[in-house]
Amino acid sequence: MKTVNIAIDGPSGAGKSSISKAVATDLGFIHVDTGAMYRAIGLYALRHECLEPEAIENVIEDITVELKFIGGAQRVMLCGEDVTDYIRSPEVSMAASKVSAVPAVRAHLLDLQKKIAAENNIIMDGRDIGSVVLPHADLKIFLTASAEERASRRYLELREKPNCPTYEEILRDIEQRDYNDMHRAIAPLTKADDAVEVDSTSMGFNEVVERITDLIREVME
Ligand code: C5P
Repeated sequence: MKTVNIAIDGPSGAGKSSISKAVATDLGFIHVDTGAMYRAIGLYALRHECLEPEAIENVIEDITVELKFIGGAQRVMLCGEDVTDYIRSPEVSMAASKVSAVPAVRAHLLDLQKKIAAENNIIMDGRDIGSVVLPHADLKIFLTASAEERASRRYLELREKPNCPTYEEILRDIEQRDYNDMHRAIAPLTKADDAVEVDSTSMGFNEVVERITDLIREVME
């Protein structure tokens, strides 16, 4: 049976994961967050002090990353350990951004991503899903928002937590990751020619979910 594959790409903090999760729940699809796979490898690199390209390349074949879907929610396994709760820190974000520029790291995750898409109805989010992982996706969406809006959403999310970074620090971090993701030599963040752009700068969460769900229903008719 042919599966339905939806690709959602866009910069850090555009809400790809939370929006994709809500849309996937509505449609009964699996949401695959590919950023979590790069984060798991970033965590490995931090733990084993192999952040430099050559160092991570030397060990990549020994690193296993698997996804489990429990009640529709994705769990990320790193060498058999569930690391889902350890991959959201700013250190891991930066490490993920760094290791994701290494071709051997991308090649290592690509087969797994393609296999999951071939076997399930999925909404897969990341940076290169429409351009590299699923070039024949049923629908490609490029979800974006201004860097200032993304930083301010993140700040509102974090401000009650201890050691919350300032708005300026968050904005700088987002701009740095945008730069890294857009300027790397392999699979840079880019809007595929046939992707539909959704700019959520002045849209509410539910509005974006509805817009994307409508676009998906149109292609499924
Ligand atoms: O989406 P998220 O912010 O969790 O991704 C973490 C990092 O992984 C990103 O900064 C990006 O460098 C990298 N990434 C990637 N390709 C993907 C998904 C994420 O390079 N498909």
